[in-house]
Amino acid sequence: VNKPAQTTSSPSNKLLGGLLAPGLDEQSCLSRYQYFRYRKSSYKPSSGLISRLRNYEQLHKRCGPYTESYNKSLQQVHSGHIGNSSDCKYVVWTPSNGLGNRMIAIASSFLYALLTNRVLLLQHVTDIDMADLFCEPFPNSTWFLPMDNPFNNELKKFNKVYRYKYGNMVMNNMINTSTEPPPTHLYHYISFDYEDQDKVFYQDEHQAFLTKVPWLILKSDEYYAPYFFLMKTFRQELDKLFPRKDTVFHHLGRYLFLPSNEAWGLITRFYDAYLAKADERIGVQIRVVDTKGNPPQNIMDEILTCFSREKILPDIMETQNSSMVPTVRNQNSTKAVLIASLFPQYYENIRSRYWSRPTVTGDVIGVYQPSHEEYQQFGNNMHNVKAWAEMNLLSLCDVLLTSSWSTFGYIAQSLGGLKPWMLYTTDSRVKHDPPCRQALSMEPCFHFPPIHDCQAKYKVGNRFVFPPFNDCKPHVNLDAETSDPDHVKHCEDATFGYKLV
Ligand code: GDP
Repeated sequence: VNKPAQTTSSPSNKLLGGLLAPGLDEQSCLSRYQYFRYRKSSYKPSSGLISRLRNYEQLHKRCGPYTESYNKSLQQVHSGHIGNSSDCKYVVWTPSNGLGNRMIAIASSFLYALLTNRVLLLQHVTDIDMADLFCEPFPNSTWFLPMDNPFNNELKKFNKVYRYKYGNMVMNNMINTSTEPPPTHLYHYISFDYEDQDKVFYQDEHQAFLTKVPWLILKSDEYYAPYFFLMKTFRQELDKLFPRKDTVFHHLGRYLFLPSNEAWGLITRFYDAYLAKADERIGVQIRVVDTKGNPPQNIMDEILTCFSREKILPDIMETQNSSMVPTVRNQNSTKAVLIASLFPQYYENIRSRYWSRPTVTGDVIGVYQPSHEEYQQFGNNMHNVKAWAEMNLLSLCDVLLTSSWSTFGYIAQSLGGLKPWMLYTTDSRVKHDPPCRQALSMEPCFHFPPIHDCQAKYKVGNRFVFPPFNDCKPHVNLDAETSDPDHVKHCEDATFGYKLV
């Protein structure tokens, strides 16, 4: 059980074992200096990763927005010719989908930037504003692409069917890997519904060509980082950065996504008021997308079965037995249950269950839910701040029960360094037995990697039916030399997916 505030405040602890750069203003980003008090990581970043991050910060400062190099590089885009006036290269991430999806895609894009010596910039879209969620991660610079940029008009049209996305250009012979001179910029669509032609992004031959292109614009909502571990181009470098493969998001996420002061206030006030004093904290994340197909009572039954089978929370007494009510206070252990859900009924149900009857162990259970927003909202910044606060609160728990397929849950588990219990019912109408299983690792899943054999087998018309876990053998189409069966496995939930373990 990890308890908060047990660590000493050495500078290295404060900066998460050297992950964060020293020397920044404490007031502008309180979480940078206070996070370690709430959760200590059991995983140390490697010296290779730390030095790569410090070098990256220098690169970002030299090439970032408003610098001379940045201006020169954009002049190349305006002129349409690559000159030798700027040696800076960029990867611009453009958003789609909810916050969890965006965060896993940003982390993957940052890893891509580290591996290819590019500067990561985020497209700043006002209607899905992320400006107030995070502190700026890179010292003395910004990671937002200024609004005044030459890509804006194209970005409005950029989607799956965009004629000039790289996959389409390759398919239609408008470009190939020996095109000279290379273009100044290219668009890549690698979101969940991408097409087969877009998957060239994951081929070494295309990556070799892309190194010559100064500006790459990526639209993604996927955690595509695991696939780099299967590519010759990146394997060696990744081994140096991540001797432990299952910590990629844990380190990159804690580095990139420091809660803004507003979010940090929501996190710490809730934590200090309701979670800090408990002996154990249990986070329960209930994400139901298909609400019609999954009645709350079915989901509730499965949650309770999972609590009981996996001993996540104690059962309650079958009958009211007053002799079990503790006579001396503080004798029993207290457990705080944090519920994250768009809906209130799970919280109400679990809370009244533990209020109405004593537990068989005598443990005292408190149940709390920070918000219930009812539906997923776009373009509402406070909605995003609450979601981000709840992901953090879940990550500060000792035990997690998450919902399969949910990137919201993935963020919480990997920031917290936790292998969650994963509940199946929330995403499918099929009853699962057992209703939950423990995840193979804390890493997020790459839901739609470029594999074909197994997918073809499970394609019904135009739709996929996801096979049961273990039905798709890992690494079906992969070159034996680059595959790493020990560290890349199929996911527990998206059975075509890949995850690092
Ligand atoms: P996913 O759809 O589960 O993979 O997660 P995403 O984060 O990508 O999208 C879901 C979005 O719905 C979140 O970003 C929130 O805006 C909202 N949402 C879903 N579940 C919760 C929850 O438990 N609490 C809050 N505050 N928002 C939620």
